[in-house]
Amino acid sequence: MPAVLDVLPSLYRGLLPAFFSRQVPAETKADCGRCSMCAAHCGEAIEPVDGVSRLFRPDTKCCTFHPRLPNYLVGAILGDSSPGLAEGRGRVLAKIDRRVGLGPQWLRPPAVFSLLYSSSRRFFGRASSLRCPYFDQSSGGCAIWSWRESVCSTFFCQHVAGADGHAFWMSLKRWLALTEIQLSRWALLQLHPDFVLEGQDREDPANGPLSAEDLDERPLPENDYRKLWGAWAGPEASFYEACFKEVSALSSADLARMLGLDGTIELAALERRHSAATAGRLPRTLRFNPSATVKWLRGGSVALGAYSEYEALALPGAAYHLLVAFDGTEPVDAVRQRLRRAHAADLDESVLLALYQQRVLVEP
Ligand code: SF4
Ligand code: SF4
Repeated sequence: MPAVLDVLPSLYRGLLPAFFSRQVPAETKADCGRCSMCAAHCGEAIEPVDGVSRLFRPDTKCCTFHPRLPNYLVGAILGDSSPGLAEGRGRVLAKIDRRVGLGPQWLRPPAVFSLLYSSSRRFFGRASSLRCPYFDQSSGGCAIWSWRESVCSTFFCQHVAGADGHAFWMSLKRWLALTEIQLSRWALLQLHPDFVLEGQDREDPANGPLSAEDLDERPLPENDYRKLWGAWAGPEASFYEACFKEVSALSSADLARMLGLDGTIELAALERRHSAATAGRLPRTLRFNPSATVKWLRGGSVALGAYSEYEALALPGAAYHLLVAFDGTEPVDAVRQRLRRAHAADLDESVLLALYQQRVLVEP
């Protein structure tokens, strides 16, 4: 089993609290090399929603998204001379040259992308126009993988621990997002203090109306651009690399101070979600979830899903008729005994646990 740290950029190794050395189940259901959501590898268990297929395009996979990279991760990409990152480095440099979405705190998505992303429906994994600029179609993978940010580090289409695994990764995303905000602000305070002292780190262009420059994906007018960047207008790449150096010099105690009470609360929530995802405990009483999706497959087996439209559990068809006996009125052991007496059949505890983690079975 990997440690939590193993899925994150190496920069965080000396920086994050001891919790991050704990193990987490490898998300083997999300097989990115043979994308588990693409038709060629997915089987027939994933149900269309409102008549729309939930399968992903092989030339986007789940990367119909544009990350918001914090300044120090941009610097990490620029300063990483490993051959595997050459493509990603080139793409980041091209974005710096274009000056669209370029700021001292973040390398953001263009405003038009954010508008389309937030206004679209059932597009995820299915719209090539929303393909991430760092997705490398020739390899079918991410060109900046080793330095990806909080959303990309924590997204898995399917989870070994089902809903509990999903809740853990979402909690980790929140903690990492807070960390990205504070570390990028810290770097700004060291290198470009006017930006934070004038409150520019609190402005989010995604909240305002789009300008002509936003709509045409042109850079800001020169005066506005210089106001944003100060003395760093021009050597922006050097600025980002300096941010990476500032953050690399911090200790875990420094980070804990920066995260303060918000960080303490998010970490406690994360520890709780981690326990739920790794404990694998079956509740004493269960009932069949009336909202579960039930899809009969060729050959007579049945696919059951509930917590996610990207995941379903396939069982022999006979199991479905046993499951509906779980109505929440008696303990799991008593239901199993009843099924053994009446049908000479049983559902193994590991199957029941998997169905609970999928929330096909739920607590009453
Ligand atoms: S996480 Fe993304 S790339 Fe990986 S298997 Fe799932 S959809 Fe495919
Ligand atoms: S940064 Fe990488 S992992 Fe994230 S959406 Fe883009 S290509 Fe996918």
